[in-house]
Amino acid sequence: MMEHIKKCVKCLQYTMKEQCICGGTAVQVRPPKFSPDDAYAAYRRKAKFQILKEKGMV
Ligand SMILES: [Zn+2]
Repeated sequence: MMEHIKKCVKCLQYTMKEQCICGGTAVQVRPPKFSPDDAYAAYRRKAKFQILKEKGMV
């Protein structure tokens, strides 16, 4: 998926390999540290855990 996509530091092309076809080094493209998606996912997991706890399934 998108987690493994890398970007060449030389020609700025996207690649899946460590080294780009141009010979440049490709580095992994990481999402922002405090992404709203991550925060929402963490909240969602917490909410789901709470529901399971109330049902006595945990
Ligand atoms: Zn390149």
